[in-house]
Amino acid sequence: MKIAVFPGSFDPITIGHVDLVRRALPLFDKIIVAVGINSTKKYLFEHDQRMKWLHQVFDKYPNVGVDSFTNLTAHYCKKIGANYLLRGLRNASDFDYEKTISQLNHIVGDGIETVFLIAQPEFSHISSTIVREIIIGGADATPFIPSEISIGSFQSRNFEVK
Ligand code: ADP
Repeated sequence: MKIAVFPGSFDPITIGHVDLVRRALPLFDKIIVAVGINSTKKYLFEHDQRMKWLHQVFDKYPNVGVDSFTNLTAHYCKKIGANYLLRGLRNASDFDYEKTISQLNHIVGDGIETVFLIAQPEFSHISSTIVREIIIGGADATPFIPSEISIGSFQSRNFEVK
């Protein structure tokens, strides 16, 4: 069984993430969208809120699961029997960063392969970072967010966006 883990912060999930998962569906038997919990990283949205959004978006796909993990991504893959990682490439800086991580995961994860999909042009400008800036700035992030998520439900530690 070909299982891929799609790891990320999903702070918040964007239509770019969803596009990547949908395009990868024919390649794997199962894709696990997994939130990596990094205690040193500051997130805009609470972990439970990010998980809830992932469920709202992906529960209707029978071959997609939603989970979270701590510590090394490669160890999590081993634990659940996944031999593949899924990542997206939007530009050259994604490539530079991802290359090293992929090479490390190949060693630490005993041959785990990272499968990269190039972002579609209509999504390659979308990142969670940009979406967070838009939300913090009080602008409408709806065009970048999956339709299953209601903008009214955006809540963070520090503020509420109506
Ligand atoms: P991280 O915190 O690990 O960077 P993200 O949640 O920001 O996690 O992103 C997870 C993955 O989704 C990364 O591989 C990233 O390249 C990919 N990704 C994010 N936005 C897009 C997009 N618009 N198109 C394609 N892939 C994307």
